[in-house]
Amino acid sequence: MATRCKSILRPGTRLKVGEDVGHLLQFHFHTPSEESVNGVRYPLVAHFVHKGFDGKLSVVALLFKEGRRNQALAPMFTALPTEGKLLALANMNPGELLPADHSYFKFMGSLTTPPCSDGVRWQVLKQTAEISKQQLSAFRKLYTMNARPIQPLNSRVVEVSD
Ligand SMILES: [Zn+2]
Repeated sequence: MATRCKSILRPGTRLKVGEDVGHLLQFHFHTPSEESVNGVRYPLVAHFVHKGFDGKLSVVALLFKEGRRNQALAPMFTALPTEGKLLALANMNPGELLPADHSYFKFMGSLTTPPCSDGVRWQVLKQTAEISKQQLSAFRKLYTMNARPIQPLNSRVVEVSD
């Protein structure tokens, strides 16, 4: 059950958030967000999946709240692929999606789609981005609900950066 909107990036694309430097493998979106912050779940989240130099996977999550039209999303959201298809983005800089403030919540987790492997480092950016109602409904026309339910924290520790 592949219900993700993945993007193909030019080889060598990198993204640095906090201490996290690695190769960006792909990014994709979920609606609603798979994260909640202080009990609040967001209408959309972007997951930037990296492979670190140590070979471990890490995911940077960017939450979206409803607001203004997001210009950085526009090139993608006007050409959204259908389920299971990939979208080639030749000249897109995914860094343009990120807010200026890169502070984050960090915790250890797993992939949210099968095989849901453990050992994935998660960094959820504190600063949210905005997306318009129209952009959100365009996404939801193709992807009605593609999020894993919120998982219990169990004994995991959530670290907060400055
Ligand atoms: Zn994801």
